[in-house]
Order: sequence, then structure tokens, then C-alpha cells
Amino acid sequence: MIPAAFEYHAPKNLEEAFRLLDRHGDEAKLLAGGHSLLPMMKLRLAAPRFVIDLGRLKGLDYIREEQGHMVIGAMVKHAEIEHSSLLRAKCPLLPEAAAAIGDVQVRNRGTIGGSLAHADPAADYPAAILGLDAVMELQSNSGSRTVSAEDFFVDMLTTQLRPGEILTQIRVPVIGKGSGTAYCKLPQLASGYAVVGVAARVTLANGKLAQVTIGVTGVGPKAYRAENVENALRGKKASDKSVAEAARHAAHGIDALADLHASADYRREMAGVFTRRALALAIARAAGKKA
Ligand SMILES: Cc1cc2nc3c(=O)[nH]c(=O)nc-3n(C[C@H](O)[C@H](O)[C@H](O)COP(=O)(O)OP(=O)(O)OC[C@H]3O[C@@H](n4cnc5c(N)ncnc54)[C@H](O)[C@@H]3O)c2cc1C
Repeated sequence: MIPAAFEYHAPKNLEEAFRLLDRHGDEAKLLAGGHSLLPMMKLRLAAPRFVIDLGRLKGLDYIREEQGHMVIGAMVKHAEIEHSSLLRAKCPLLPEAAAAIGDVQVRNRGTIGGSLAHADPAADYPAAILGLDAVMELQSNSGSRTVSAEDFFVDMLTTQLRPGEILTQIRVPVIGKGSGTAYCKLPQLASGYAVVGVAARVTLANGKLAQVTIGVTGVGPKAYRAENVENALRGKKASDKSVAEAARHAAHGIDALADLHASADYRREMAGVFTRRALALAIARAAGKKA
């Protein structure tokens, strides 16, 4: 299908992008990798009159370490995250999640900022971002603000981004000693999107789980933290039994989605299974038993 006609703009810097956003308001859409926006435009689910392409803009495509955190520009592509040796060493959960996205073509074009701003309920990064307790930086003509991953996702395809704002960077903590992370996913076979995807981060101290953070995608209308599993495990011995018992509640209180890929009951069941797997792998990695 062919999208409705639109006017194309390619700002060279953020200031120009903000001016265009302010001028065109609701009628404008930002374009990053185009792997969610363009299919929507072709299906006429979106018909912006103005498309503001962030692809020519310099300075949003960095991965760097700053004071115990990794800072990632919004225009960094999935493949760059997947192959970044810095991220593999300092925050391996993000490359693991990036490698699970779609196919090579999608990973070569799609960006982390575009994926998070789009907030597809079956996207992979939201689980990782929640599991890492990340912070997003949102900028507009009137300044910048930070929003935690937990507050960022509001509902299906809806985030905290306000009109005129651009997600500019994501800040995640560097993995500490005694910590391990894992992303485990049940993919839809056709697209690769998550039927269920679970990101786990744990820290071990004397065989106990000193810290547990779990992000779940694919199950509900938005990605969420499995707080009841986290609370049940924090301070407990990291045993197969305690993990299996707690993981069963990974979809507790979630209004699970049902579609042609999976029923709500199946999604809830798989949330438990993949939470158990992600936790077991993260614990093994924290203990230095698995790569
Ligand atoms: C065949 C196929 C398979 C896929 N499989 C998967 C998968 O398995 N897992 C997965 O997670 N994803 C998957 N995707 C989606 C893919 O990861 C997209 O790249 C991603 O969702 C959107 O990123 P983008 O850079 O392409 O954004 P775009 O499509 O350019 O933009 C998406 C939305 O975000 C807005 N936006 C973009 N950048 C910003 C910004 N910096 N600030 C504010 N708003 C912004 C745009 O206005 C638009 O509304 C798949 C896509 C396709 C086509």
C-alpha cells in the first residue's frame, strides 16, 4: 500500500527539529528507523502531514560510559547495540535483547529511541529497559526532563512523551560485581515480536538474592515490572524452588492480551515459564556459572 502524501523535513540539529515539531504540532511525526512508522503509514493507520526525519541529525548515535552508567543516544540502531563490545562488557542485557529483535534488516534500520517511543506491547527493549531500571531523557524547546522506565510506558503505544518532545537518550546502570542479567523470549515465528519476553537482573550476596528486577513484555497492553515476583524473591536464597514458586505469579493482576498468536491464558502461563528461565539464567551468570 502507498502512504498518504506528506511533506518531508530532515533537520540537521535538535533545535531545528524542535522548531518543526512546534510549528506543525499534531500533524507532524518524527521518523527514526521507520520500521514501525512506515508500515503504519502504508496501512493508513497513520497519516502525518509532516514527517520529520531524525536520520540526518548529528549527535544522537553514541554509546558511552558516564559515572557508572551507560548512556545510549536514541538514534543508535538495534544492530549497533547488539554488536557493541562496550555494552556487552558493561550492560550485556541490552545486546542480548537487541539480538532477539526481528531480523537483520530490522536490526540494521530500527533504533532504540524509535522502539521505546513507539511502545509496542510486543517489543523487546521495553522489558530490558524496565529490568535495568533505566532512565529516559526527553527534550523539547523548553528544556529537558528525565522519566524512569517504570513511568515511561503509559499504555499500548502510549508513553510519557509530550507534544514537541524528543526522546534523546537512555541511561542504564553498568552491571555490578555479583550481578547477572538475562533476556528470554518466546517469539512470534513470523515477525519475531515477543509473545512473551522477560528480562531479569539479579545481584547475589552470600547465596541470597540481594536485588531482583524483572521486566515483562508481550503479555499485557504495556510492558511492566513483575513486582510481586521481585518482592517474593528479594532477600531469599537463590534456589530453583524459590524461583519456580515466585515466577508462577509473573502475570498476576495483568489484563493479558489475546490475539491470533496466543490466548490470554497461554500468555499468562508463558509469563511464568519465561520468568523462571530468565531468573535461572541471570542467577547462573551472577554466580559465574554461565556466559
Ligand atoms: C518485520 C518486522 C519485525 C519486527 N520485529 C520486532 C521484534 O521482534 N522485536 C521488536 O522489539 N521490534 C520489532 N520490530 C519493530 C522494530 O524494532 C522497529 O524498528 C521499532 O519498533 C521502531 O523503531 P524505529 O527506529 O524504526 O522507529 P520509527 O518507526 O521511525 O518510529 C516509531 C515511532 O516512534 C516515534 N519516534 C521515533 N524516534 C523518536 C524519538 N527519538 N523521540 C520521540 N519519538 C520518536 C515516531 O514518531 C513513531 O511514532 C519489527 C519491525 C518489523 C517491520
